[in-house]
Amino acid sequence: MALFDYAPAPESRAAAGDIASTYGHFIDGEFVDSTGSEALKTVDPSTEEVLAEFAQGTEADVDRAVAAARKAFTSWSALPGGERGKFLFRIARIIQERSRELAVLESIDNGKPIKETRDVDLPLVAAHFFYYAGWADKLEFAGYGPNPRPVGVAAQVIPWNFPLLMLAWKIAPALATGNTVVLKPAETTPLTALRFAEICRQAGLPKGVVNIVTGDGRTGAALTAHPDVDKVAFTGSTEVGRAIARTLAGTRKKLSLELGGKAANIVFDDAPIDQAVEGIVDGIFFNQGHVCCAGSRLLVQESVHDEVLDALKRRMSTLRVGDPLDKNTDVGAINSAAQLARIQELTAAGEAEGAERWSPACELPSSGYWFAPTVFSNVSATHRIAREEIFGPVLSVLTFRTPEEAVAKANNTPYGLSAGIWTEKGSRILWMAGKLRAGVVWSNTFNKFDPTSPFGGYKESGYGREGGRHGLEAYLDV
Ligand code: NAD
Ligand code: MG
Repeated sequence: MALFDYAPAPESRAAAGDIASTYGHFIDGEFVDSTGSEALKTVDPSTEEVLAEFAQGTEADVDRAVAAARKAFTSWSALPGGERGKFLFRIARIIQERSRELAVLESIDNGKPIKETRDVDLPLVAAHFFYYAGWADKLEFAGYGPNPRPVGVAAQVIPWNFPLLMLAWKIAPALATGNTVVLKPAETTPLTALRFAEICRQAGLPKGVVNIVTGDGRTGAALTAHPDVDKVAFTGSTEVGRAIARTLAGTRKKLSLELGGKAANIVFDDAPIDQAVEGIVDGIFFNQGHVCCAGSRLLVQESVHDEVLDALKRRMSTLRVGDPLDKNTDVGAINSAAQLARIQELTAAGEAEGAERWSPACELPSSGYWFAPTVFSNVSATHRIAREEIFGPVLSVLTFRTPEEAVAKANNTPYGLSAGIWTEKGSRILWMAGKLRAGVVWSNTFNKFDPTSPFGGYKESGYGREGGRHGLEAYLDV
């Protein structure tokens, strides 16, 4: 037994504000009922309690939202950039003012710890709107010509792992460049997007500039295939990304895809081990491992393998898994029963293929969806757990001897979203960064995000960049 334990430090659930029992869509500045009668439920994955019902968007709903966005485009795109920027600044400030409410609501709907929604998601959401607000009146200096034009109506489909942050990554650059949007949140996490709709009204954003249509993949398919959409931005699985690319092939629509990953986190023998272990933990257990750029493949130099693995296990034993609203919680609930089943299937495959599985002793709550932080050692490059995206708190450990071998193993994946390098040697960092086929390479850190820095992938991780000056291009007619 531990010498002392943490007392519970619960955040107030009431801070999430009122959650309605049913939600419709947000179209042309109004909350409206669906034309269909099908309703979906969103649950709190830490308890399986139903939080609200929301509409399954029909083709007619999508049509109405796209028409509203089309109508609003004429005046929104004609506004001087500085005027558009004012709306974005206003939205950013309201998000800051309401950040506690949004953080709690996000934790409840998604299952992620309040520590993360409060300290990572919400500050980044506000920062994204501030950052692109700043670009709105400076587009002629962005390097895309003297008078870069918006694309038009953007259809945006986002996943459930960072619901409000992915909304910000999509909506902020689109609005700054003069586009109007129809956004579909994921079916397990619609609540913060619907609350954002309220914020658009509070900010006085002109009607139709932002439209939110809820529903599952059927609604997403109808939205991305809609003939009057000019641009599609998607974040989610590679499988769905491929389907969207097929649908859009041969059309005039512009497309950006941010898909899966299987990132290598590479630890050399000269790395500061304790620091590296913090980075490994942050790389794979942050957000329950529901992170496309997660450091899910740990590549350790053979000479320090045992030392790193021992230190990692000690550190994992201190991770606190449980109530997402407890401020001490490090690892929250798995987002859905379906995602839990996928993690269970892949970890069972890891054991069956002969890798060695380890988790710290930890008591998991009896209701809700939970998975203990897990590490697999003795993993070979052919194992499914070394190749497939698990999207959960599961780390696969492989070894290497030389920098060349580390590069070859790191690049031995169909993905190419991110990578991490841990070493004291600056020259090696630069050499490695030049050889790794990954959109983001972190050195002596991991999972650091900044709105000024472009993010995106190579190969099956997708194309196009979000964030930074580069992120403007996806929404400009260039
Ligand atoms: P998904 O790709 O099915 O869902 C992502 C979004 O796309 C959701 O809003 C969904 O409703 C929508 N969608 C589904 N089918 C669609 C279609 N045919 N056309 C348009 N939109 C559609 O992802 P998932 O099923 O939630 O997760 C499956 C796997 O995807 C995960 O295990 C993980 O490996 C990966 N994933 C990656 C990311 C990422 O950030 N890159 C995010 C979520 C999931
Ligand atoms: Mg939910």
